[in-house]
Amino acid sequence: MSNNFKSQTNFHPDETMLVDFSAGTLATAPSICVSAHLHFCSQCKAKLMRLDQVGSQLMCEANPIDLDDGAFDAMMEKIDSDSLDSSPGRSACAKTESSENLLGFPYAVSKLVKNNLVSKTWKRLSGSVDIARFKTGQEEFEVALHKICAGGKTPKHDHKGLEYTVVLKGSFSDESAVYREGDFLVRKPGDVHQPMGAQNGECICLSALSAPIKLTNPLGFLMKPWLRINPM
Ligand SMILES: [Zn+2]
Repeated sequence: MSNNFKSQTNFHPDETMLVDFSAGTLATAPSICVSAHLHFCSQCKAKLMRLDQVGSQLMCEANPIDLDDGAFDAMMEKIDSDSLDSSPGRSACAKTESSENLLGFPYAVSKLVKNNLVSKTWKRLSGSVDIARFKTGQEEFEVALHKICAGGKTPKHDHKGLEYTVVLKGSFSDESAVYREGDFLVRKPGDVHQPMGAQNGECICLSALSAPIKLTNPLGFLMKPWLRINPM
């Protein structure tokens, strides 16, 4: 997996997501996706650095308030316990260039693969798509890796909720565009699309899906009206 596409990333998280990510208020699943995107995108990394600076400036200028005795100890305890927590979130971002880069994935994903993968093998989802699900400790999104085989067509599907996707390896296309390594996509309720893997190799994406998807081709519709998601 190379970083050759670092400067060619065409699809990015919007400003609001980066602001929430910087403030630490973005939910876990989309935070993991933003972390993975930052690994590929120097443009968003620079934006985030500016937002972090603004945030720390605001903190410095805020009026101090009195705290209970013991608040400092409680905070240190919380920091200690969070650093033992295996779920990756905002803190993973600072380490996107880091030492540990299991399987060549971005840090946030390597950490997930190492600690949170439910099964070490891919599971067949459809003729061209395999899935490996993650346990992330939140109940809103199913977070998983999807692998589309070279030239593989995924079933056309409709979204009931949000879906965040980051391309980690290879590329895929749909009716609107071609998506390459690092590209960050958001699908909203009502969006219908049919992703197709590139002919020249398999494509692996990280995705966070907030609600079931509906297959819109007649066969899929008859078999499974809504594909259930498994937030873990
Ligand atoms: Zn970006």
